[in-house]
Amino acid sequence: MANITFYGAARQVTGSCYLIETEHHRLLLECGMRQGEDEDENEAGPGERALPFDPRSIDAVILSHAHLDHTGMTPLLVRHGYRGPIYMTATTCQLLPIMHKDSAFLLMKDVEWINKRRQRAGKPPFEPPYTLQDVEHELELCEGMHYEEKRTILPGVELRYRDAGHILGSAIVELWFDGRKLVFSGDLGNSHSPLLEDPSIIRKADVLLMESTYGDRNHRSHEETIREFMEALDQAVDDGGNVLIPAFAVGRTQDLLYHLGQMHHEGRLRQNQVFLDSPMGTSVSEVYENNTRLFNDDNPRFRKTMTHTWEQWLPVLRFTRRTEESMALNRIDSGAIIIAGSGMCTGGRIRHHLKHNLWKHRTHVLIVGYQAFGTLGRKLVDGASRVRILGEEIVVKAKIHTLGGFSAHAGQDQLMAWAKAFDKPRPRLFLVHGEPESMQVLQKRLAHELHWDALMPEEGETHEI
Ligand code: ZN
Repeated sequence: MANITFYGAARQVTGSCYLIETEHHRLLLECGMRQGEDEDENEAGPGERALPFDPRSIDAVILSHAHLDHTGMTPLLVRHGYRGPIYMTATTCQLLPIMHKDSAFLLMKDVEWINKRRQRAGKPPFEPPYTLQDVEHELELCEGMHYEEKRTILPGVELRYRDAGHILGSAIVELWFDGRKLVFSGDLGNSHSPLLEDPSIIRKADVLLMESTYGDRNHRSHEETIREFMEALDQAVDDGGNVLIPAFAVGRTQDLLYHLGQMHHEGRLRQNQVFLDSPMGTSVSEVYENNTRLFNDDNPRFRKTMTHTWEQWLPVLRFTRRTEESMALNRIDSGAIIIAGSGMCTGGRIRHHLKHNLWKHRTHVLIVGYQAFGTLGRKLVDGASRVRILGEEIVVKAKIHTLGGFSAHAGQDQLMAWAKAFDKPRPRLFLVHGEPESMQVLQKRLAHELHWDALMPEEGETHEI
């Protein structure tokens, strides 16, 4: 008998965390950070939450891909005594140090800022949930595996990673224990992704955890998305303003560099400056440069041109690593495209650029990724006329464009096609990583078309598997 408890990304899209208790072992699948919670309201401090289990009781941690909403709390496990292995793909192993060091730094900065206010209010200061030192300890525990390699990670427990096509190194998890097989989709890629392969098809499982971020809709067609993208960029040139693109440092940023390069080669890019204003995005882009063998073969010209560096593909690209370089961008009045993190505008340099540009009519903001409920990005998408950024109220005059088609997630039809490939009798299905409305739509379609009942576990719910 085994149990699974859904500690995160249950009827929501962030904070992925599932505890699997087999007859002899306790396995933690993902340990993600929650995003979109109002940190000011969180009395425990930013990013901090009590772990619902003792980290020392866990035998192994298994991660699907590097995004923080799937991995961002593993340093906290280590801080609280976890000393076992942390499994991931070899490429995730290259991305994780970049992302977690950045995360520790941002948490420290956030805590400093909040503590100044708390001090003035006579409240005791917060501690950051984890520090750079915890991240260093965590990195010593990381074990990279190749796609398709099957490994015995504990007596009677086997693990294999398959390509999920979502970001570089992202994986679907196959896990064997107690005579059964569990498959966790991780985040499934959009098959229109310009760089990565399509998600691997899996046929056998007894238990399936499937993401459902876009369970209620399909993305716009690729051609339509590119057309919308170009129209927005053109409008910004005509209006004499800058373009701001909040983007996840891993995945979306590199997709954008690809598309901008493609437009440049076709002579259709009118902006003469593209800035990647993200030290983390820059480091991650370098990991992409070193792993071009994992790219798909859809565009031979890209393969031929992009052999070592992104600038070969997009010559107007500049990387602004230093803070002074980033601040200098505030003086550029028009004709620039600025890509910066974080993807949901909850942190990072994009907040500064939004603060300096949102109140101008001629600014164009391109939202190219999913915006979780409660985030600044979501407020912009939902048409807020005023927002608070870095403690200041800013009026929103900029034009906000939402381009759904760039998503790194499978759309509804793609989720259905991926699920349908499982052999009958179909596995017991749990929908995770989706907001309730979107999960319900997918649940209905699965029942109607495939006669397949899907469960939608609540946070904290335990099921026998
Ligand atoms: Zn992801």
